[in-house]
Amino acid sequence: MSPRQVAVLGATGSIGGSTLDVIARHPERFRASVLVAHRDTQALAVLCERFRPDLAIIADPAMEADLARRLAAAGVVCEVASGADAVTAAAAGPLCDTVVAAIVGAAGLDSTLAAARAGKRLLLANKESIVMGGALLLDALRQGGGDLIPIDSEHNAIFQCLPGGRPDLARSGVRRLILTASGGPFRGRKRADLGAITPDEACAHPKWSMGRKISVDSATLMNKGLEVIEAHHLFAAPVDAIEVVVHPQSLVHSLVDYVDGSVLAQLGNPDMRTAIACALAFPERIEAGVAPLDLAAHARLDFEAPDLETFRCLALAFAALRAGGDATAILNAANEVAVEAFLAGSLPFLGISELVERVLEELPAQAVVDVQTLVARDAEARRAARGVLHRAYC
Ligand code: NAD
Ligand code: MG
Repeated sequence: MSPRQVAVLGATGSIGGSTLDVIARHPERFRASVLVAHRDTQALAVLCERFRPDLAIIADPAMEADLARRLAAAGVVCEVASGADAVTAAAAGPLCDTVVAAIVGAAGLDSTLAAARAGKRLLLANKESIVMGGALLLDALRQGGGDLIPIDSEHNAIFQCLPGGRPDLARSGVRRLILTASGGPFRGRKRADLGAITPDEACAHPKWSMGRKISVDSATLMNKGLEVIEAHHLFAAPVDAIEVVVHPQSLVHSLVDYVDGSVLAQLGNPDMRTAIACALAFPERIEAGVAPLDLAAHARLDFEAPDLETFRCLALAFAALRAGGDATAILNAANEVAVEAFLAGSLPFLGISELVERVLEELPAQAVVDVQTLVARDAEARRAARGVLHRAYC
């Protein structure tokens, strides 16, 4: 059996690193054939030296010459390309049969859609692309005829607890999908306690080590909101059949509640390599480098309802999903602008949900027609968000 050829989009990130760790454990099964990063040529060159891909892409065209120079200096022979179009072409191209979509943010939309349309096995981490273009991504998948296996840990857990991966929920007797949330670093605090939160405090997640954008999303609970939307699309689950429960130990990664009263859960140590290995090898199981779960040492599993008053972003995500159309794309774009401003020190922590709410009010939902209109609406929402930012906070 020849190894699967894996394109790792976002190779220098947190998910990219975990993916390459699993790949390196199974050279007979997987090969990293395409590696993509945004701007960090040094980190990408180091990965190329180790994994020897066929193609290395740096998304920022200004960095291509620097990448080529570094690879030549290291004696790495591979094709070098740059630009967003090269990323999209590679995701659909002949050098890979599997695509790990691990670019952060709306920047991952085109390549995710392209991989789906081309019928690749799509390992989806880039939740923003399904939050933006849910229906379009599902159409692209049907068109391409490939598999989508989620590697967001909650959705991977649900995938594992359903019969046959992504079946018809009603016919399978599923009553509810229950997404667990760690609660982030500020669990238990009230709005009055969150006025002076710094980016480093928000990024210090108690259980998971992740990129800065998703760490902030976890602190606001927007991450869980995006995941509710993701679950709705991935599993064709009605919004009222999706529930969120806070579980601070992050050992139960999500659950499926069946009509006969059975509740199936997937447990494990909080390490993304479990979900990634599951998705890479499905339907087989492979070693992922994750320590066995020691239940007696952990001793307890706690659960509590989320505090939607303090963590408004989760309520806003539910509302956007109920509003339908492109409201979730507007939510996502406004959130990306807000998180960037918070990380840059120009928006307070509580301003993130305020800004997203204002933009959702300014731009009522419209039907999603095609990718072009979606991208235009994403841009419109970003302009509106920057407008709110300047008027209210600068
Ligand atoms: P990260 O910031 O650590 O890495 C992001 C990667 O994307 C980097 O390799 C970066 O170079 C690349 N990138 C950024 N902009 C790009 C662009 N315009 N073109 C090409 N590449 C670009 O982020 P992460 O934590 O690995 O998260 C990646 C995605 O996975 C996000 O959508 C996140 O929500 C999702 N996710 C992450 C985790 C986690 O544990 N980290 C868990 C579940 C889902
Ligand atoms: Mg998750």
